[in-house]
Amino acid sequence: MKIKINDTVKILSGKDRGKTGKVLHVIAGKNQREREGKVVVEGLNLKYKHIRPKNEREKGQRIMFPYSLPISRVALLCPKCGQTSRVGYKIAENQNTNLKKKTLKQRICKKCQSAV
Ligand SMILES: [Zn+2]
Repeated sequence: MKIKINDTVKILSGKDRGKTGKVLHVIAGKNQREREGKVVVEGLNLKYKHIRPKNEREKGQRIMFPYSLPISRVALLCPKCGQTSRVGYKIAENQNTNLKKKTLKQRICKKCQSAV
């Protein structure tokens, strides 16, 4: 998954286009058609959620609730260079172990090449 929880992302399309926010949830795609997965971004893509009253004394409510949106509609905002960027991967060798050469997959910003 290219996007992780607590990443800052920018929304690329829709009514919140250009806005940035923090990723609260990453939802993996369930099947082939939606394999890219979805993200929930704090304070963005808000929709009303209606809550029905549970008993006669309670009132129904409408609350603003961030809805998930497809990962293809957001771009990672690199914390180093402050630009939206494609995500690349770099294989870094773990230097702590001498016995086994363990490799670590590291996410990098394609614009400034720094690990994100
Ligand atoms: Zn960068």
